[in-house]
Amino acid sequence: MISKELLTNSFKEAYGASPELIAFAPGRVNLIGEHTDYNGGHVLPCALSLGVLCAAKKRDDGLIRLTSLGFKDEGVLCFDIEGELPQRSSWALYPMGVLRALNDAGCAISHGADLMFVGDIPAGSGLSSSAAVEVAAALALCGLNGVSLEVKKLARICQRAENVYVGVNCGIMDQFASAAGRRDNALFLNTATLEYEYVPFELGSAELIIVNSKCKHSLAGSQYNLRRQQCEAALKLLEPKTHADALCHISPEIFEASKDALNDPVLLKRARHAVYEEARTLTAVKALRAGDIKEFGRLMNGSHVSLRDDYEVSCFELDVLTELAWETSGVLGARMTGGGFGGCMVSIVEKDGIDEFTARVGSGYLAGTGVEAEFYRISPADGASLIN
Ligand code: ADP
Ligand code: MG
Repeated sequence: MISKELLTNSFKEAYGASPELIAFAPGRVNLIGEHTDYNGGHVLPCALSLGVLCAAKKRDDGLIRLTSLGFKDEGVLCFDIEGELPQRSSWALYPMGVLRALNDAGCAISHGADLMFVGDIPAGSGLSSSAAVEVAAALALCGLNGVSLEVKKLARICQRAENVYVGVNCGIMDQFASAAGRRDNALFLNTATLEYEYVPFELGSAELIIVNSKCKHSLAGSQYNLRRQQCEAALKLLEPKTHADALCHISPEIFEASKDALNDPVLLKRARHAVYEEARTLTAVKALRAGDIKEFGRLMNGSHVSLRDDYEVSCFELDVLTELAWETSGVLGARMTGGGFGGCMVSIVEKDGIDEFTARVGSGYLAGTGVEAEFYRISPADGASLIN
């Protein structure tokens, strides 16, 4: 848990006054429905208790001053509210992008502000620290300016900040989960319509464990963009037969009857992942509602195989972790989670098997890769809010 006191004291030190408000926004883990959020499909993430705090105070002028305890060396960064945006590589682009996107959406963020961030989401783990920074910044800026936003609009604005101003072509899942997560529930989100439902996440005698591979391959960004293009290309070839406007709107039956249109074996694999991952996600929600955690776990395993073989976004380290988990007794399901090429595995493990799981997976991963994995026992947490 991040220390609010540390943040408040550091804020006073940097800006000479106490913050007016503090916003918290969580990271997220996706349980199933991977790479479906830009294919018109469903996702099933939950918010974490790990996240980002943003302390904030209004200013009388038009300056935005930013600091992050995670980037202390950079000191206080200062921008004009309507002036140029920070450089491409700067963390400040996330909150400044949010400010721009809020104003683009007509939110009238007109007061200058002093903001300070602190977070405890492990860097490079794919648990969406960027969305947490965006959503925390948006809540803080809205709070200072007397603006209130419902979660759909908040998530859309933060996604747009990342797409347009940061330049990352992400889907809506991360920002939505951070904004709308609910304690002890998974968030079943239709990414085409933004309709959502909470599904009680009751695991009985089991627990959710995230394992951080601590690796992040640099091709993640370029491969992500390539997958999006491949999905668009596959959809175009399938469109005359299926009349679908997104890959995830094609049922497995219709896909099987239409797949001859995909004359490229790579496009066939990409489309097959999107179609079957959507089907797995819908089935997984039914299983969860019925309390069938074993079935839910089997679907998670299937998701990993599809991401590994058809979508080809796993990597050696994630496959080592997942194989080790599958071989360990008491593991109901395990898969890579997030965009891929590094980051985390998410798994469901029987409580009385957790010690063995940690020992076996930890030592096996160290032997196979030379890296010490990190383990986090988690339960779904609430989405973003002002905390004072
Ligand atoms: P993730 O999967 O965690 O979202 P990204 O690469 O999308 O990974 O986003 C990470 C970036 O978000 C960091 O490089 C930094 O610019 C920004 N960020 C994350 N946490 C913080 C923080 N505590 N303070 C400031 N910026 C942060
Ligand atoms: Mg991110």
